[in-house]
Amino acid sequence: MNPLSAPRIFRFAPSPNGLLHLGHAYSAFLNHDLARAVGGRFLVRLEDIDRARCTPALEARLLADLEWLGLSPDAPPRRQSAHFADYDAALSGFREAGLVYPAFMTRGEVKAFAALHEEREGAPWPRDPDGAPLYPGLDRYLSPAERRARIADSQPFAWRLDMAAALARIEGPLSFTETGNGAEDEVLAEPALWGDVVLARKDLPTSYHLSVTVDDALQGVSDVVRGCDLLPSTSVHRLLQALLGLPAPRYHHHELILDEDGRKLSKSGNAGAVRALGEAGLTPADIRRMVGLSA
Ligand code: GLU
Repeated sequence: MNPLSAPRIFRFAPSPNGLLHLGHAYSAFLNHDLARAVGGRFLVRLEDIDRARCTPALEARLLADLEWLGLSPDAPPRRQSAHFADYDAALSGFREAGLVYPAFMTRGEVKAFAALHEEREGAPWPRDPDGAPLYPGLDRYLSPAERRARIADSQPFAWRLDMAAALARIEGPLSFTETGNGAEDEVLAEPALWGDVVLARKDLPTSYHLSVTVDDALQGVSDVVRGCDLLPSTSVHRLLQALLGLPAPRYHHHELILDEDGRKLSKSGNAGAVRALGEAGLTPADIRRMVGLSA
């Protein structure tokens, strides 16, 4: 098909690990409205790789809430948990290219390492854009024999991207198109700010960054519309796209709907849960107005 005539594809990609809140509803409405405005398709992807926190009951509830809001997707929802093989294929490619390595240091150990450094040096240890201490990269220098011995000893490990090696594969700076400010801005990707990111967690054959990048490409997503808390992560996604030879969608990072204390609504229990608002007598049109959209 001529790519110029292909319909644009939008996706709302919640994690079914809690209730659908006003913040999610805003994101879903935006995706849906933008798709409809350009004659595009509206997809729903269930980001349920965390099998402990994502339950079938929460998933059913989320889909029912979306339907109640009038946001039925144009295709059956894609469940990430059904596609681990796709992520594993991408990870294998990185392994064969020597771009990932097994890292045995846990997040807790990274935190302790950073705290010790700060105490000893009296200077801050670098943090990633989410504020977590950067992984110091120690496991990058383990010998192949030491790695094999630890794996044979069943020591848990994550696969981390060797950021320096990955960047060395890329020609020139990477950027992405961002429309969140109303104009088409070309934003410089800065993946190095994240250090050696985890591409597969110790308990999973993937991670948020890897699955989201692979799925957006597999689903032909042309437009990623999501909260601005994920804007810094886009740098990692852009790098993974370049390494995997995948196209880059356009990005639109929207403002978050916050509760009275300025916290993301999805983090604050029942407040703002769409279902509770419906049970209290509000209509989907009321919910649209509550998040600042015309009914
Ligand atoms: N699953 C992510 C979340 O619920 C969103 C990921 C995305 O839109 O790229 O925050």
